[in-house]
Amino acid sequence: MTIEELLRQGPDGARIRSARLADGVATVVADASGLAEAERSAFEQRLKAQASGLSQVREVRVALTAAKRGPKLIAVGSGKGGVGKSTVSTNLAVALARLGHKVGMIDADIYGPSQPTLLGTSERPEARGKQLIPVDAHGIKLLSVGQLVSEGHALAWRGPMASGALTQLVEGDWVDRDLLIVDLPPGTGDVQLSLLQKSRPAGAVIVSTPQDLSLIDATRAVDLFRKLSVPILGLIENMAGYDCPHCGQPSDPFGSGGAETAAAELGIPFLGRLPLSATLREASDAGQPPAGGTGPAADTFRLLAEKLLASLDTAAA
Ligand code: ADP
Repeated sequence: MTIEELLRQGPDGARIRSARLADGVATVVADASGLAEAERSAFEQRLKAQASGLSQVREVRVALTAAKRGPKLIAVGSGKGGVGKSTVSTNLAVALARLGHKVGMIDADIYGPSQPTLLGTSERPEARGKQLIPVDAHGIKLLSVGQLVSEGHALAWRGPMASGALTQLVEGDWVDRDLLIVDLPPGTGDVQLSLLQKSRPAGAVIVSTPQDLSLIDATRAVDLFRKLSVPILGLIENMAGYDCPHCGQPSDPFGSGGAETAAAELGIPFLGRLPLSATLREASDAGQPPAGGTGPAADTFRLLAEKLLASLDTAAA
C-alpha cells in the first residue's frame, strides 16, 4: 500500500490531497479549508504524527491548501406554514449582520416569497451572464423567488421548474458573503429535499409555535434534516405567549415550556422564544425588520443570533 493510501485510511483521510515518499521524506498535501488557525496547526501536527509513524519515513513535510471558502448556508425550516419562519429568517439575518457578519438571504419560499416585503424592497436583481446579483436591503443582500415573478402571480411551479429557479438563487453572486440564510418553503416535501441536497447547508434552524400540532410538524422537519445529515442548530419557538399591551403582564394561552421540552426530547438545542407581538407584525408588514432597530425585539433577535452562531461553531467542530 502506498503512503497516500495509508494516510487516506486515517482519521483525516478525506482531506489528504496527495502524499509521496522519496528517500525517506514524506511530502503530504492536505486540504485545510474551513479550519480556524488553531485547528490548522493541530491538523498539521496530527498529519506529521501519522506520517512519521509509517515505515521508511524519516522526515515529514506537510503543505496545507485551502479551497476557496464559500458562505456557510443556514436553512430555516418549519413543518408547516404560518409559524413565522420568514419573519424569524429576516430578523435573524439582520441581527447576524449587526453582529458583523456579511449576510445573504435566499428566499426559497416558492409558496409565499415574503422577503422582499419583509425587507422593504421591490428592486429586481440584475444578472451578469446567467448569474443573479443580489439586491441590498437593511445591511444584507437578498435574492428571492418573489423577484423572479410579478407580484401576486400565483406560483404553480412543479418540481423541476421550482428546483431550477431555486438553483438560480443559490448560485447567485454570494462571493463576498460569509453566511447565507435560506428561508425554505414550509413543510418537508420534495422541493425542500432537493434544495437541501443541492445546497448542502452547514446547519438548519427550525421555527415552531407552541401548539402541540405545530410541534409535531416540527418533528417532521427534524427528521428531514437528520435524514440528509444536516446538523440541526436549534429550535426557535415563535408566537410564544404575549405581553399584554395594557397591563404588560405576560400571558401564555398555550402554556409555556412545551417547545423547550420538545427540543430536549428531540435532542436539539433550544435557541429561545419570541412572543406574539403586534409591534413586530406591524414593523414586519412595513418592511422594517425590528432586529434592525432598538427595543425588546431587537434584543431578542440579537440573543437568538448569538446562540445560533455558538451552535454553528459546535456543529462545525
Ligand atoms: P411563515 O413564513 O412561517 O409562513 P410568516 O413569517 O409569513 O410565517 O408569518 C405569518 C404571519 O404571522 C405574518 O403576518 C407575520 O407578520 C406574523 N407573525 C410572525 N411572527 C409573529 C410574532 N412573533 N408576533 C406577531 N405576529 C407574527
